[in-house]
Amino acid sequence: MNNKQPVIYIVEPYGGSARWHNPNLPMVFFDDAVVTRGDGVFESLLVRDGHPVNLQRHFERFSNSAEVMDLAAPSFEKWEEATSLAIAEYGDGEAKCTWTYTRGRKSTGHPSCWVVVQPIAEEVLHQREKGVKAHVTERGWLVPADLPAKTLNYAATMATMRQALKKGFDDVIFTDPRTGNVLEGATSTVVSFKGKKLRTPASPGILPGTTQAALFEHATAEGWRCKSKEMTIKDLEGADSVWLVSSVRVATRVKQLGGHKFKAPDNEQEIRDLIDAALNS
Ligand code: PLP
Repeated sequence: MNNKQPVIYIVEPYGGSARWHNPNLPMVFFDDAVVTRGDGVFESLLVRDGHPVNLQRHFERFSNSAEVMDLAAPSFEKWEEATSLAIAEYGDGEAKCTWTYTRGRKSTGHPSCWVVVQPIAEEVLHQREKGVKAHVTERGWLVPADLPAKTLNYAATMATMRQALKKGFDDVIFTDPRTGNVLEGATSTVVSFKGKKLRTPASPGILPGTTQAALFEHATAEGWRCKSKEMTIKDLEGADSVWLVSSVRVATRVKQLGGHKFKAPDNEQEIRDLIDAALNS
């Protein structure tokens, strides 16, 4: 068990230094758009060896999300400064770092921005090692296809997760109700391995994953053949192994997809090493 306290730094939206905040005291107002509307964007980053992993890709997606949501462009220097301060104070070990940027208070119109560094949940670490049973379900809501934003509105996703848990699964893989194609996990990108081929679903509405992007870049350089393409559940069932990848989870093997069980692949360690190397490169 990791009992370290979360470390919070408030990012001043109009300049000024990042400000430490006591994690035992409240900091979001009753009229913040994130409370009343789930209106804001965020990023979750992995912290390893005192550094945020994949920082550039996260900041790019954060900026895209802000643009899609008509929020002012975030400043790289400000978010990086707050992240470095929070990581330095948190100390050694793997951790989860979250950036939150909300539309802010209705009464002031000023956005609310903060960075948190905290321990990775035990369950996430357990699933990294042991894998998950994934429930397959249609995503009943549409995400704008052109540039999906990583918004704070995950309530419908979390409701779907609770239903899956009640059915004895650990996670969810969404399909598109219009085409039946595979989309993504509740909070992850789907990647399949077959021989030296890696595949990830390409369909409108999928959030571009920073972990998958790093993995495909590194794996391609190492001689694996990587492609994003439309995929069905049958395609996944025909793979040697299927993984849910995301920043803090890193990689979780899908042991079961609906009723279909996967044996652990012979190259499980090779795949884990490949993903780790992609994040460290
Ligand atoms: N897809 C969704 C819906 C997510 O919420 C996430 C991460 O939270 C991902 C994919 C994976 O993205 P990343 O690898 O950048 O963490």
